[in-house]
Amino acid sequence: MDPRRLIPRTDAALADPRLAPAVTRLGRDRVKAAVVDAQSRARAGDLSPEDVVPAAAASLPHRATSLRPVLNATGVVLHTNLGRAVLSEAAVEALRAAAGATDVELDLETGRRARRGRATLAALAAAVPDAGAVHVVNNGAAALVLAATALAAGREIIVSRGELVEIGDGFRLPDLLESTGARLREVGTTNRTTLADYRAAIGPDTGFVLKVHPSNFVVTGFTADVDVEALASLDVPVVVDIGSGLLAPDALLPAEPDATTALRKGAALVTASGDKLLGGPQAGLLLGTEPIVERLRRHPLARALRVDKLTLAALEATLTGPSTPTHLALHADPAELRSRSEALAAALRADGIPAEAGPSDGVVGGGGAPGVVLPSAAVALPAAWAGALRAGDPPVVGRVERGALLLDLRCIPPSSDDALLAAVRAVAEDGCTS
Ligand SMILES: *Cc1c(COP(=O)(O)O)cnc(C)c1O
Repeated sequence: MDPRRLIPRTDAALADPRLAPAVTRLGRDRVKAAVVDAQSRARAGDLSPEDVVPAAAASLPHRATSLRPVLNATGVVLHTNLGRAVLSEAAVEALRAAAGATDVELDLETGRRARRGRATLAALAAAVPDAGAVHVVNNGAAALVLAATALAAGREIIVSRGELVEIGDGFRLPDLLESTGARLREVGTTNRTTLADYRAAIGPDTGFVLKVHPSNFVVTGFTADVDVEALASLDVPVVVDIGSGLLAPDALLPAEPDATTALRKGAALVTASGDKLLGGPQAGLLLGTEPIVERLRRHPLARALRVDKLTLAALEATLTGPSTPTHLALHADPAELRSRSEALAAALRADGIPAEAGPSDGVVGGGGAPGVVLPSAAVALPAAWAGALRAGDPPVVGRVERGALLLDLRCIPPSSDDALLAAVRAVAEDGCTS
């Protein structure tokens, strides 16, 4: 019999349970195209008929998105290139629940329109009782744009020359602020700015005084800057961009500013990111006095910066749920990290893989806590393995340092140790490491 007669028909292949998940994930048309392609390879004799369905399944992507989950072995807790904060399970569950139709803007009791995101805003207000009112926009940059536009367009923002910072990837805060039509009134010098400098710049055109946390560098030596408390004694609103999103002080990061402290010292408005130290989704947090937040909320631009139901859901779950992966990674016990690194290295050596356990320096990253070293532990492999590990499944991203590839365990939850081992073993077996 002609073996080509055994090639499954398209309808039969599409009904095969082995292709059902792909149909759900990618749609029937895309799977059909893969089946047709496999059928033609079988007709050409390049594939046996019983392999048509498995070959079609194997040719299709495992996910509906091309974004790939990665094991972050860099030791950088908030790695901007890896998407900053890892969401908690609670936040992921909330995303799922919010994905369909939700009551994001409807009061189910009365059947009337309700304030969008009210539960998330209530959770944020509860987390920072010193804020008279709160609002959420798309990211930290959007929070600053809204504040500058609503409070200082056509007027002046007074800012220290020591705080005109670039955040990363060419994102320069002064350029962003000036794009709103506000004028920057620079005061002081790179290393020293005094209260008298600010006071001398205040005039009828002043919109507000801005204090920016220079989050990704430190200036040491002959320096002076002015605390929020002193700035608040001036007769103009003080806006504080804390950047990192700590809502209250964290003993681990004593130099990192937080929203509660800034508000207690008299800030009229605090802006921060949701996906840095808070450990939530990308968002911009605005916390301040009731009249100022209300002005921002009612400004026409607010509509262009509003967050979607997914962000609202994930942010609420982050604020009300258990410790975030960011918090756990920051506070991971170095002794525990060391014993995990020793166990992993020993397991790899037993397979003939040249792995060594050793110390590693983790950092906060994401423009937070510059100069703070988080003592960590790593599995060291030959540096030449870095590319193959990045190309693996899941990709493993480590840090090449002093001729070795360090796989830092601080941002790898213990539940992923087996996946890390499997990824390293797969690279060793492939032999494509040098
Ligand atoms: C990160 C950061 C921003 C920008 O926040 P995004 O959420 O990335 O838009 C602004 N200011 C400071 C001080 C920051 O650290």
